[in-house]
Amino acid sequence: MLNNTTMAERVAQIRNRIDQACARAGRYPREVTLLPVSKTFDVAAIREAIALGFTRFGENRTQEIAQKAPLLGDCDVQWVVIGQLQTNKAKEVAKFAHELQSLDRLELAEALDRRLQQEGRAIDVLVQVKTSPEETKSGLEPSELFTFLRQLANYQTLRVQGLMTMAVLSEDTQAVRACFAQLKQLQARAREEAIAGVSLERLSMGMSGDFEIAIEEGSTEVRVGSAIFGSRS
Ligand SMILES: *Cc1c(COP(=O)(O)O)cnc(C)c1O
Repeated sequence: MLNNTTMAERVAQIRNRIDQACARAGRYPREVTLLPVSKTFDVAAIREAIALGFTRFGENRTQEIAQKAPLLGDCDVQWVVIGQLQTNKAKEVAKFAHELQSLDRLELAEALDRRLQQEGRAIDVLVQVKTSPEETKSGLEPSELFTFLRQLANYQTLRVQGLMTMAVLSEDTQAVRACFAQLKQLQARAREEAIAGVSLERLSMGMSGDFEIAIEEGSTEVRVGSAIFGSRS
């Protein structure tokens, strides 16, 4: 599938495509961060990516972070949790994660805040919004976003940095684009409210299959797994 390319070559190709998408959108490539998603891949693959200069890695299961983190104790790695999270995993997130991109409900925020206070830590968070009609996609309903952001302002341990979404999985690029455009619009409207303690600079949107469309619609961070590490079997 990856045509015997090296990881360095694949990353260079992705950066090239990011640059071109930025050029089409009249944006600067430095506005877009590439987050490698290492879920299901082993620490050898992560070390290869570290050698290419990456320090942040996306994972969707806290158990997997707990397994990998000790094996990379000699490296300066920051774990970014991107998957749907059960409330009982708050403890692991408070221990291991640098950032959570899938915050989607008050119950989880409350559990995280309690655990983070115990750890004496604070983490960056993005609020995941459901922009796709698919039942399987998680995230907060757009209509609930503003209320939720105001509630989050009360938690000192959760530094709100922006929004995250997953687009509909579809061949219809207009449908995909509409998901990203909706998140961008929600960001603009939420910013008008200027909630104290809540920053909404960041928009995490776009994966291997749709990151160029996401960049054209304003993404500041693309989460790329298979295009860097290979297909997950
Ligand atoms: C797995 C995953 C990704 C990366 O997906 P690829 O298609 O492999 O790039 C991005 N975001 C989330 C939330 C994921 O779970």
